[in-house]
Amino acid sequence: MNTKSDQGNVSQWVYGFGELDKASATVSDDWEAVRGLLGGKGANLADMVRLGIPVPPGFTVTTRACNAYIDQDELPAGLWDQVLSAMEDLESETGLGFGDPTKPLLVACRSGAKFSMPGMMDTVLDIGMNDEVAARMIERTEDPRFVYDSYRRLIQMFGSVVLGVRDEPFEDVLYEYRTKRGVENDSGLTADDLREIVDRFKAVVDSQARAPFPSDPYEQLKLAVIAVFDSWGSRRAKDYRRAAGISDDLGTAVNVVTMVFGNTGDDSATGVAMSRNATTGESRLEGDYLINAQGEDVVAGTRPTLPISQLAEDMPEAAAQFADIAKRLEAHYRDMQDMEFTIEHGRLWLLQTRNGKRTAQAEVRIAVDLVNEGMISKSEAVTRVSPDQVDFFLHPQFPISVRSEARLLGTGLNVSPGAAAGVVVLDPDLAQQWAEEGREVLLVRPETKPDDVHGMLAATGILTSSGGRTSHAALVARQFGKPAVVGASDLSLDMSERTIAVDGLIIREGDWLSIDGNTGNIYLGKLETATPDLEDPFLATLLGWADEFRTLGVRANADEPSDAERARAYGAEGIGLCRTEHMFFDPERLPIVQQLIMARTDWERREAVDQLLPFQRDDMAGLLKSMDGLPVIIRLLDPPMHEFLPSFEDLFRERTELQLQLARTTDLDEVERLVHHLSTAQSQLDRVRELSETNPMLGLRGVRLGLTIPELTRMQARAIFEAYAMVKKQGGDPHPEIMIPLVSDVAELAIQRTWILEEAAKVAEEQGIEVVCPVGSMIEVPRAALTADKIAVEADFLSFGTNDLTQTTFAISRDDAEASFLLKYVTDGLLPYNPFTTLDTEGVAEMVRIAMEGAHKTKPEIETGVCGEHGGDPQSIATCHKLGLNYVSCSPFRVPVARLAAAHAALADKADQE
Ligand code: ADP
Ligand code: MG
Ligand code: MG
Repeated sequence: MNTKSDQGNVSQWVYGFGELDKASATVSDDWEAVRGLLGGKGANLADMVRLGIPVPPGFTVTTRACNAYIDQDELPAGLWDQVLSAMEDLESETGLGFGDPTKPLLVACRSGAKFSMPGMMDTVLDIGMNDEVAARMIERTEDPRFVYDSYRRLIQMFGSVVLGVRDEPFEDVLYEYRTKRGVENDSGLTADDLREIVDRFKAVVDSQARAPFPSDPYEQLKLAVIAVFDSWGSRRAKDYRRAAGISDDLGTAVNVVTMVFGNTGDDSATGVAMSRNATTGESRLEGDYLINAQGEDVVAGTRPTLPISQLAEDMPEAAAQFADIAKRLEAHYRDMQDMEFTIEHGRLWLLQTRNGKRTAQAEVRIAVDLVNEGMISKSEAVTRVSPDQVDFFLHPQFPISVRSEARLLGTGLNVSPGAAAGVVVLDPDLAQQWAEEGREVLLVRPETKPDDVHGMLAATGILTSSGGRTSHAALVARQFGKPAVVGASDLSLDMSERTIAVDGLIIREGDWLSIDGNTGNIYLGKLETATPDLEDPFLATLLGWADEFRTLGVRANADEPSDAERARAYGAEGIGLCRTEHMFFDPERLPIVQQLIMARTDWERREAVDQLLPFQRDDMAGLLKSMDGLPVIIRLLDPPMHEFLPSFEDLFRERTELQLQLARTTDLDEVERLVHHLSTAQSQLDRVRELSETNPMLGLRGVRLGLTIPELTRMQARAIFEAYAMVKKQGGDPHPEIMIPLVSDVAELAIQRTWILEEAAKVAEEQGIEVVCPVGSMIEVPRAALTADKIAVEADFLSFGTNDLTQTTFAISRDDAEASFLLKYVTDGLLPYNPFTTLDTEGVAEMVRIAMEGAHKTKPEIETGVCGEHGGDPQSIATCHKLGLNYVSCSPFRVPVARLAAAHAALADKADQE
């Protein structure tokens, strides 16, 4: 891994904030690698120094030092000497002395890995303080309150963070003094109180810590550095890394930073701010600060904070300077910044900056605004927003107003988007039962397994206390679009008491909880949800830009005009798949369809078909109208016929029932009626038996059905053409295309095509207009893929039915596989992902590739697309782009996601070529 130049410097463990160039050079000037070496916090601090932004002097102990320490179980040779010499540099830069009571230098010791993560050591402030230092500092500053406040903070932070004392005994002492003084927060305590508290804190450490509080500043520093290194290996940090897919060998850096004091009176303050609103993305400085405070006081919520907008009144100069720095940092990182600052006697210091975390909504708006402000390019904006973030706009959410009022109980991994509220249920059977009773349930489990799936499907959302992003729960939840939070280690489940302990509360089965699959947050109670606005103007702009980059078309699968309209509003460029089945299941039509199936003669069949025609024609006209001007691909009837008849068991039961009634009745009219019913039931039963197949998926369906019942093909074609004529005469611009399912040989297609063209000619003659309607083939059987060159002779277009193609290529039936072994394959790593969710690149995509090659040899211009769920999956979309398909077609709700994913695929392709 190591490059030559970095081997040469491997024993440089410490870099001053002013040595960014030197650090960069060791990793060939790659910013990501610099962040890897110095950690995110350290790299950005040094970067700010380079920009001339006021940062207190400091240095970074590298992640390599951390790794060396972990390997050798002791600080690596040379490290401590380098720390000492860096401390000397700090002393000369500040004119202070570490441990020198006459002019004491105090420092902060801060952990900082490449990626910020929970479980890492909290910052220890005010290192360097001891009795002697405190005494002289008081003389010098004449501010005993400030000095004792800093001292007691050091003992508390050092005690809990480095020496492992619980926080409660410290808090108990503070509580005692606040009560005695009758004040609400620590800022109301006097210098004397704080002096006494220092002694009490020391006593707490003496009695509870594994080691005494070190009064030697260097000892303090060394223990703090080691504690940061050790925290890399803490349980929580490890669990988090495993779940988040962060490598264990990155290590953490340590930043040692000269203290600046926000707690030195009313001309001092400390605060945090975002350069834009992290929830909505609005371009306005947002944040909070506290006068006369230090460190975590602002986020601890012990004192009411002030909004950053007020800083301009309190400290106008520092406020103006901060606003200016925020702008500069944004321009430098070309992104929204999350900053920490301290003002000491009116002088501003930046303590941290990083790219701010934000909601999906804010991500979209910020990306668009940054383009408009000339900071980033359109393609960069498009690349920054992830398909998942667009997906966010399509799921129910907890509105900000609801969230801000709610009690947050804990956080887990956000593995499947959307918000859900439900009553807690701890086992899947009960979940199913309660759901059937009409209750909204939230399934909570330690982890899920295949046996739990029925409960997961019944639930509005899924919450687990362990497991990571690729756990069973996460996979299933994503698969079925259920909001889910997993690995919420804050929860402790007691399966025998049927309770959850969290955040000091006991939640019982039946109590309401709410989860946010976008953030991983878990809330107490039932939160109201709302679906965000897909018409968000920023999203519309961003997707418009995405459209400029993508080369892959995006169509929708829709059967009804309402779906088609939605798809169109979401940006679909046509319908890639209209299934005609539902038109047959309609209760009004089902009896006619059954008559068709029961028919024994051509004549009976024709009669049934003639009755279906007007229905079908109206359906088609509706669809063509709603997609005016855009292609609508209509697939002829696909499923096996028995699906339209009642089940064998039901018919059998009905027949027995009728027989019993007949035996009992004496009324002649009733007998006649029953006999009639009985004969119908009997003949249906016979037909179902005749039609029953061992393996219907591979039986009489698709084109085979169309060939068996020619009247059906002709009727469907005629309905489409009559609808076409109707819409055309009304001044519309219909573009129907007919698609034949499950073709495995070109001969099947050729016959169907002849019949369809004959109907087209007849309708054209009858209506006196020209009928234009391409006829194409689905490719969903390996044989069709392998013979696509021949199929292309008879096909005007090809559409890959990748769901069936996956089933037929793998020789697995999806429903059976998903209910039994398939997800285990994925969790065990036999398959990298579920091939029904993400297109299998090695097998199924290879089928597509072969078919494309063959078809294009015959017809270079033939249009090709993918219909089915894969068309809405970003990874599959990238595969489709690479295969050179013309379009993907997916559910209307996935259309916006597909537009963005298609743009990402095109941009990635372009980047690869450059
Ligand atoms: P985190 O990673 O949790 O943000 P930080 O190291 O950034 O931890 O710091 C925690 C708190 O301590 C922050 O509020 C920060 O402002 C404060 N802090 C850090 N370094 C200093 C310093 N040198 N002087 C004063 N306050 C500091
Ligand atoms: Mg911080
Ligand atoms: Mg199919």
